[in-house]
Amino acid sequence: MNLVFLGPPGAGKGTQAARISQTYDIPHISTGAMLREAIANQTPLGIQAKATIERGELVSDEIVIGIVKERLAQADCAKGYLLDGFPRTVPQAEALDQFSHVEAAVNVDVPAQVIIDRIAGRRMCQVCGEALHVDLLKGSDTCPKCGGKMVQRDDDKPETVRNRLDVYEKQTKPLIDYYRRQNALLDVNGNQPIDEVQADIRRALEEAMK
Ligand code: AMP
Repeated sequence: MNLVFLGPPGAGKGTQAARISQTYDIPHISTGAMLREAIANQTPLGIQAKATIERGELVSDEIVIGIVKERLAQADCAKGYLLDGFPRTVPQAEALDQFSHVEAAVNVDVPAQVIIDRIAGRRMCQVCGEALHVDLLKGSDTCPKCGGKMVQRDDDKPETVRNRLDVYEKQTKPLIDYYRRQNALLDVNGNQPIDEVQADIRRALEEAMK
């Protein structure tokens, strides 16, 4: 199954994508996570991308298309993949169509005000990347999965979030129509408890794959 997950920052895409990738046993490929890893390892790509990400802007199409093309060529993607955070622009979607066939685009839809509240409370583990809301951490800053430290992502700070939402509206939202035109769009209400969003995504995928 070849899937892409769309949705604004803070829609819960990453959480939902991680579960779906386990259920269907397909690799979860997050370009954001790959870029954060490159930054942590201070690779040439990481050094180049760091300032752009911290401003809440998009890394160039050329760079991310290259990363994704290389990743999808790996053996574990032969039975399918789940792309989380890619494509984010129409040129990225067009490039992806050149080297792969997207079967479904899951659009996790959440109203803007809910997103702003969610991102303000989001913390991410510095070690394993687990994302949780502060309410669930109950005052702790320790990752319940691996014991790493839970911190706020630099690009989740309010000044950057505004920019990321703006970038989403202008550059990423047009992908909803792009995949609708291809008859591949699956709209899911992301403004519900995590398990319900997950159940809706599974139902929509099962219906689409019949
Ligand atoms: P994410 O974890 O998906 O929210 O991504 C974090 C940041 O990484 C984004 O705000 C962008 O700066 C960068 N990024 C991730 N995926 C892409 C992409 N497909 N195209 C351009 N930049 C990206």
